[in-house]
Amino acid sequence: MARRRQIYEGKAKILFEGPEPGTLVQYFKDDATAFNAQKKGIITGKGVLNNRISEFLMLRLAEVGIPTHFVRRLNMREQLIREVEIVPIEVVVRNIAAGSMSTRLGIAEGTRLPRSIIEYYYKNDALNDPMVAEEHITAFGWASPQDMDDIVHLTLRINDFLTGLFLGVGIMLVDFKVEFGRLWENEDMRIVLADEISPDNCRLWDTKTNEKMDKDRFRRDLGRVEEAYQEVAKRLGILPEAGVRDMKGPELMQ
Ligand code: 5GP
Repeated sequence: MARRRQIYEGKAKILFEGPEPGTLVQYFKDDATAFNAQKKGIITGKGVLNNRISEFLMLRLAEVGIPTHFVRRLNMREQLIREVEIVPIEVVVRNIAAGSMSTRLGIAEGTRLPRSIIEYYYKNDALNDPMVAEEHITAFGWASPQDMDDIVHLTLRINDFLTGLFLGVGIMLVDFKVEFGRLWENEDMRIVLADEISPDNCRLWDTKTNEKMDKDRFRRDLGRVEEAYQEVAKRLGILPEAGVRDMKGPELMQ
């Protein structure tokens, strides 16, 4: 088989040229990094689980009208996506204080926020992804005011939908990071959800025990990292238990 052309290699994923123009193949690695790649490791099976979890969440979001880059899953570690022009901003939504917000503002982890808060970070490893305001984003042309309107609108809808979906399976959506891209169709441009949504870029806590079920287990050396990712997939009803099967629906928790 002819080798595919690699377009980009990130910390957790590789992008290859897709089978048709305007498509890419997104490959999920087991590599895990934290603190701007100062901490590195492997979470065995993470790529397979994140491929499935992200597929599941992107499909559910598409069903409620959120446009995404996702086309279809190709195999255990790869999915076909639409090629987009990535907006160089990480959009973080917080429902409960944790992580860098707790550190920066001295708010105890676990404090419910008075309302969901959206933050922006400029995607730039050399600068350590600094937090920026919408003013910087529009002034420097990273996104237009219209792009930002679309991004905020989509982000709030994604947060509402995912909060409910996770609550239904006994998980609190504490915070998460999303990325958006510009999808061009002839002369028209649409902002669509890109990248991935998985325990790599969400904080997910068990509603009963507050146990962390996300990448913080790796970042903070809490152990049982693989098990946490598997538990998220299991609760969503998508753990490939006996090989790869078609997805079942979410398992409702009392
Ligand atoms: P914090 O700013 O507290 O470190 O992260 C907030 C949320 O965004 C967490 O759910 C975290 O996983 C996610 N997040 C922020 N920056 C990144 C990043 O560069 N990569 C990944 N995978 N997730 C991020």
